[in-house]
Amino acid sequence: MQQSIYETFQAILFLEMPKNDAGNIIVFDREIKGWSRGDRRLKPAPPAIVIFGQSFNNKEIATLTYEIEHVITIKLETGNDDQTVSAAVLQEFERLVHEVFASHRQIWVIDKCPICMKKTLSPQHFMIDHSDIFQSYADNAVADLEALWDETHTTAMPAIADSRKASLAFDGVFEDIKNNRPVPRLNAEAKRAFDFMVKNKMKPIRLLYDVRISDIKPTDNGIDKQTYHIGEITIRAMEVTRISATGPDSVSTDAWSIR
Ligand SMILES: [Zn+2]
Repeated sequence: MQQSIYETFQAILFLEMPKNDAGNIIVFDREIKGWSRGDRRLKPAPPAIVIFGQSFNNKEIATLTYEIEHVITIKLETGNDDQTVSAAVLQEFERLVHEVFASHRQIWVIDKCPICMKKTLSPQHFMIDHSDIFQSYADNAVADLEALWDETHTTAMPAIADSRKASLAFDGVFEDIKNNRPVPRLNAEAKRAFDFMVKNKMKPIRLLYDVRISDIKPTDNGIDKQTYHIGEITIRAMEVTRISATGPDSVSTDAWSIR
């Protein structure tokens, strides 16, 4: 449920934190090479960043529509010769993470692109790099929305953000794959990757909203640990999911015996 969120948060931090000439992110002059997704006791050389989920609450807000609250923690552990330096590194790290996440009230969470196998932070990737496949789907999706809008409005439909169009285009391709309809210009390798997504019940594009830093624990003060200090930043994010069909007849009608 949260693995893709960890990867996305890691990518945002990696892309937006200050970097040195070697391309590693830095806090002051301290290079951070250690990343963990999920917490653990032993870390690579400090300072090390850990991203882990604390909880998620699932609430049914309408029939078959669920609102999930994710609570994710970003932790920095650092050890230096001097406790004042450790405290300063933590304070600066927390300031930087606060600055980075302050501008991400909504965050796309996207699985690896099934066509080029790269990670992306925006669905616009599909339109920019694979427009031969997705452009016609985006055009159709927008035309459908405009037709729907025109049924009840006399004014033109407001513009839709490019990322939303790209997300709709991806949904269109995904639906065709699910229903065994041919997708023009999709090669066999990409088709297999899409089939894998369907078989594994993946949600390739998700959207987190109301993403906010809810709590910062600047330091554990390391009273018993001398110069080794830990700081934690807690981020809360909401997600809405919907189940399209359910009921007693949404099961296989085959008789079974489990092997
Ligand atoms: Zn791609």
